[in-house]
Amino acid sequence: MQYTGINLQPGQTVNQAVVFRIRYTDWSSFDTSNDYSAPESGETEIADRIAVFNSANKLIMGSQPETAGPSSSYNIKVRARGTSGNETINLTVGGNVIATWNLTNYFQDYNVTTSLSGGINVEYTNDAPNRDVVVDYAEIGGVIHQAEAQSGNSAAWGNGQCGGGQFTEWMHCNGYLGFSAYK
Ligand code: CA
Ligand code: CA
Repeated sequence: MQYTGINLQPGQTVNQAVVFRIRYTDWSSFDTSNDYSAPESGETEIADRIAVFNSANKLIMGSQPETAGPSSSYNIKVRARGTSGNETINLTVGGNVIATWNLTNYFQDYNVTTSLSGGINVEYTNDAPNRDVVVDYAEIGGVIHQAEAQSGNSAAWGNGQCGGGQFTEWMHCNGYLGFSAYK
């Protein structure tokens, strides 16, 4: 199938893509060395550095930069426990809940994979008497971020109120403990 006169923007989709041949509009050779999509010098016929995905986000041609494209997912592991074992936490990325975990009263690892971007929060949602949550760390894209190193903790009790504490693993009240975005 040939798409003539179509200017594809990054992330743009077309139907029934089987084989892609891509050129600049003036037919000049690919020589934009700072563009990931540019092939190595000498590769004038095959543009394998342009990634093509089908509608299921499966890579069907080419390769992609690690940090771009619809399938650039990453893993988030949260190590946490409750004090009673009845606590529930959500993991949100960019404000979207991507996982809900029912904690035990001993530390366990909870994993989820996402391709969403945005700030990463652990939200404690069902506080009650004798319930607290302890978050050891979040491992985001292979890098460990200690909970006690994070300044954003609206769930820590301190100075006589929820949210009055920070730089702690503890979540005493309903609220969130914030980690930096992966992307
Ligand atoms: Ca820790
Ligand atoms: Ca509590």
